[in-house]
Amino acid sequence: MELDKMIDASKMEALKKNIDGAKRFAVLVHRNPDGDAIGSSLALMQYLAAMGKEAKVIVPNDFPDFLKWMPAADEIIIYESQKQAAVDYLHSVDVVFCLDFNALSRISELGTVVAGLAVPRLLVDHHLQPEEGFDVQISEPAACSTAELVFHIIYELGGLQALSKNIAECIYVGIMTDTGNFAYASNRKDIYIIVAMLLEAGVDKDITYRKVFYNATLNKMKLTGFVMYEKLRVFSACNAALMTLTYKDLRRFNAAKGDTEGLVNVPLQIKGIRFSCLLREEVPGKVNVSLRSVDDFPCNEVAAEFFCGGGHKNASGGEVYGTLDYAVERFKAAIAKYKSKLTE
Ligand code: 5GP
Ligand code: MN
Repeated sequence: MELDKMIDASKMEALKKNIDGAKRFAVLVHRNPDGDAIGSSLALMQYLAAMGKEAKVIVPNDFPDFLKWMPAADEIIIYESQKQAAVDYLHSVDVVFCLDFNALSRISELGTVVAGLAVPRLLVDHHLQPEEGFDVQISEPAACSTAELVFHIIYELGGLQALSKNIAECIYVGIMTDTGNFAYASNRKDIYIIVAMLLEAGVDKDITYRKVFYNATLNKMKLTGFVMYEKLRVFSACNAALMTLTYKDLRRFNAAKGDTEGLVNVPLQIKGIRFSCLLREEVPGKVNVSLRSVDDFPCNEVAAEFFCGGGHKNASGGEVYGTLDYAVERFKAAIAKYKSKLTE
């Protein structure tokens, strides 16, 4: 079986030119970085370093503990806590890579810094509808993950020998987490050809799975049980489920970053449920919204229309400035509006 090319030849050429002609790179990912954001950026950073370039990953805010073991994760600059270092570095780079997001607003304040730089901005992403303004735009919603795109870039530029074990491991984490360990967005055969090459490069997929997914604290397990038992509501007439977490709930379980990761997927296991929503009161007055769906139900449209957000068709997010009760009202309005699509 052959691996099909995923990235347009002219875009690969433009990317190669930008890499060859530059010395220093920043690799940026979206706010609240997930496994794909961290995996794809660390893979690209290590590839650039292996090419004799200087490259650093900068993230807008901290990332979950279950990703901290990853190769070179300790070199990541966290903008929120290291603003000066991030800004100084950004002002010294020749090229900025933007990975796993489609609009500068997704990197918060960092976006303003990047907008002020007069260097090429290269997008590598798999979200729908990227904004304009990138000098090279590799935007492939068909890709299961940004890590898959980074694989194609490294494979086309450097071949299999460019794939060190550490790079392969980072790419594997991105693919594994963005497909829910190959449970969704993962029907294309090429994903498995790539996985075979990653195994060949030395990845132990079983150990990698455990490092990411069997890394919970007791608090996280208790929080999950609490949510399932006390906080999960099903709206059968709309095939929808809702979970809410107050600021107080989160404090009660001493919830750390990442402790609610994956929770929003669980109600999709209930027979008939096609749409799941988690509303998390991050701080009083600000509610974080996570949406998941199955089949053709477009939760990105719900995110954009009701929660000032966006994302993928089956995995989106957004936020509500207001009370948790108000966010619940938004959710109810959303499922009322989308009832026919949810029940068709
Ligand atoms: P999560 O529920 O894991 O926080 O986010 C799921 C996906 O939704 C992310 O991978 C991202 O694509 C998208 N997403 C999350 N929050 C936002 C947001 O505030 N704005 C936009 N445009 N997309 C978001
Ligand atoms: Mn992604």
